[in-house]
Amino acid sequence: MATKNKTAAKTSRYTELRKMLEDRRRELMHAVQGKMRDVRADGHRERDVLDQGESSEVDIQEDIEFALIQMKAETLNKIDAALRRLEEGTYGNCFECGDEISQARLRALPFAVRCKDCEEARETAEQRERMLSQRRGSSALFFDMSN
Ligand SMILES: [Zn+2]
Repeated sequence: MATKNKTAAKTSRYTELRKMLEDRRRELMHAVQGKMRDVRADGHRERDVLDQGESSEVDIQEDIEFALIQMKAETLNKIDAALRRLEEGTYGNCFECGDEISQARLRALPFAVRCKDCEEARETAEQRERMLSQRRGSSALFFDMSN
């Protein structure tokens, strides 16, 4: 009985995580496709009537839009990777201790690879490391782009 319940819990977790990832994927797809249409449409319409100065402002605006689209496209790739990991049964488990990462945490941070405890432990360790390296006079910077 206990084993059966556990399997059921696993299945519903899988279903919910999958739904969460797919919802997010759909939102991003809409945003990316919608934006791409906007950029193309605006580009054609405005380019004709603007003088040099104004059109460079449009260029900057388009660059920003493009960067945003790119970021969203990268997030889409991450979601695809997460869905693949979910299929393999490796998504949503802590990289450090192997425990399940809570659904609330995954909802907030879909690409979290550590549970809250391990993440906090890591941050504390990093802070200590930073303090130590500052004391040594070096200016080590940490950019964690993995999440
Ligand atoms: Zn952990």
